[in-house]
Amino acid sequence: MRAIIFCMKVIVLGAGLIGVATAYYLWRDGHEVEVFDRNDDAASETSYANACLVSASRALPWPTPNIGKTIWRALTDPSAPMRIVKPLDPRLWRWGGEFVSYANEAQYDYLSKAKLEFSRFCQSELESTIAETGLDCGYRREGLLYICRSEASLESARVRLKHCAKFGVEAKLLSRAEAIALEPALSHTDFAGASFAPTDAQGDSRRFTRALAAFLSERGVVFRYGAEIRTTLSVVDRGYGVFANLEPLQADKFVVALGPASYHFAKQLSLKLPIYPVKGFSLTVPIKDPSKAPSRGGICEDSLVAFCPLGGFMRLTTGALFAGDDKNYHASNFEAHHDSFESLFPGALDWKMSAEIEPWACLRPMTPSSLPILTTQVNQFGDGSLIWNCGQGHIGWTMSCGSARVAADLVAERDPSFPLNAMQRC
Ligand SMILES: Cc1cc2nc3c(=O)[nH]c(=O)nc-3n(C[C@H](O)[C@H](O)[C@H](O)COP(=O)(O)OP(=O)(O)OC[C@H]3O[C@@H](n4cnc5c(N)ncnc54)[C@H](O)[C@@H]3O)c2cc1C
Repeated sequence: MRAIIFCMKVIVLGAGLIGVATAYYLWRDGHEVEVFDRNDDAASETSYANACLVSASRALPWPTPNIGKTIWRALTDPSAPMRIVKPLDPRLWRWGGEFVSYANEAQYDYLSKAKLEFSRFCQSELESTIAETGLDCGYRREGLLYICRSEASLESARVRLKHCAKFGVEAKLLSRAEAIALEPALSHTDFAGASFAPTDAQGDSRRFTRALAAFLSERGVVFRYGAEIRTTLSVVDRGYGVFANLEPLQADKFVVALGPASYHFAKQLSLKLPIYPVKGFSLTVPIKDPSKAPSRGGICEDSLVAFCPLGGFMRLTTGALFAGDDKNYHASNFEAHHDSFESLFPGALDWKMSAEIEPWACLRPMTPSSLPILTTQVNQFGDGSLIWNCGQGHIGWTMSCGSARVAADLVAERDPSFPLNAMQRC
């Protein structure tokens, strides 16, 4: 499994999905690897409680040709799944200006192709990693179901499938009866139809990240927790200075995988990394009656509530709030989760077990193009020891291992395993 190429000391900054997966590919290449994180365990921020869907079939860019309507609703409708809470944030204006520049047919096609193809590559890397390490994270490639309550959302699904088919996505539209045959728990629900992507998958991303960190720790990768990272550009040393709890770190290369906080790290180097934190809300609820619960993950296309069965629990997520770095949440942020899921699968969950229900809010590291940032940063002194691996946004679980493989290629200065020329629009 492990190839010894030539050994470098590489420090990975961040122990989320992206950082730990990167550490795995670097370890596989034979490097001496250390991982630093400010929390006490891996996957303690955005990677803690996402929707757990490996949804490569839906890896579409957020800027669409008709985004104007969504933006207007985000500004004016407090019940919209996407909301702009801090419209005067200068950082959002900068990010939003670039975002809107992609909202046309030509860019939508270009970005869809890049993102869908990269996501397929990433899913295959994720599956290889799981097979090579033998980790159990409940990964199941049995397809995901995208349920359309209304005729309007079914029509949108038809349009989306036609668009995705141009880029090789395998997915089909299902009638109500066909969807019920796949998911009998929907038999009493009022809905128009669904789309089904048979190659999409699901798995517990926190379990994956923590198990992979444990696998690596046992094999010599050092994880240093409780370490707050900072950086400077040192004119004296003509390079980057990276510090953990103010102590300088020494390495041949650094990979920045700080998720949404990568923006602040870049700012310390006077760089404006195009990442905005887009808040989402996640709720994990015990399953009361498995016969009434979905057997696989999916999304309600009308409410945009995602669901995923994880053992005896159901993970529900929704919301995309442009509210800066705020990670707070209130009971009202979870009404959509309850209402949407209960009307789809009534009686499946135990909403009374309040001690076991876990609410959570976290920030997606979104770029304006919706493509991740995978590149080597060369400073004015010619120092190229910093590699960015961040900005996977709404789809970082799906993209974790493919991004990690490419980051390891950049560290080794070899041709990337996935051609990056189509991915450099950020
Ligand atoms: C509600 C929601 C649902 C989602 N659902 C899905 C899904 O179904 N499928 C999918 O593919 N993706 C999904 N995603 C996206 C996915 O969860 C993210 O893209 C992914 O978790 C990002 O991982 P990361 O490692 O970049 O960031 P993080 O997990 O946030 O990791 C960054 C790490 O850096 C550390 N850190 C930050 N700053 C510092 C510092 N200064 N010093 C030290 N350490 C620092 C943090 O502690 C953290 O551990 C979802 C996201 C949200 C919000």
